[in-house]
Amino acid sequence: MKPPRDRRWVERTFGRFAWRDRRRPRGAIEILGEWEGENIVAMRPPLALTDGRGRPVNRIRCHRLIAAPLQRALEELAEAGLSHLINTFDGCFVARHMCWNPRLPLSRHSWGIAVDVNARLFPYGSHEKQDGRLVRAFERQGFVWGGRWRTPDPMHFEMAEVPDMRQRVRILLDDEHVSDGRLEEGTVVAPVRKVAEALGCLVEARLEEGEVVIHSMTRGE
Ligand SMILES: [Zn+2]
Repeated sequence: MKPPRDRRWVERTFGRFAWRDRRRPRGAIEILGEWEGENIVAMRPPLALTDGRGRPVNRIRCHRLIAAPLQRALEELAEAGLSHLINTFDGCFVARHMCWNPRLPLSRHSWGIAVDVNARLFPYGSHEKQDGRLVRAFERQGFVWGGRWRTPDPMHFEMAEVPDMRQRVRILLDDEHVSDGRLEEGTVVAPVRKVAEALGCLVEARLEEGEVVIHSMTRGE
């Protein structure tokens, strides 16, 4: 069992922001500055989800670094025929204090790195256990499950790994697969030679100088 990460790890991994309390709803905060625009993205869930009022959830706002692992966890459930294990999807990015209590620290939902699932059936403090297949689908993608905590929060799953390291991307030139890379801090890292040659360039490695030169074939024509 993995423990939740501390606040310093969360800030180091997902960023820091300034904030102030909102008057209402009580316990909500306002995030100041650029952080939200730079980090919170909208993803389309790969399966049909509804919220606690029965409304469809067509997009999930979450931290850019958890979009891929969250997508994979949901895809895995859908592919295994387990979509029904998510009765309601009860939110991800919500800028607020824990338990909507202004005296408590900020919730991980404020970073968009936690999701609540089946909130009505598995409320905060309940010792009810979510289906193990649902829990494992999230844990495999680096989330920890709040149902294992001393004060259990069984609706709650939050990211506890540096998801960048896990995020692979396929690189296509037009529609053809060129190579595989990975996403680090929002930047794609990819094999230079494969990508450059696919674009019709020549690559020269000047290892003693610590340089890789891409010769664009059109230059100087
Ligand atoms: Zn939660």
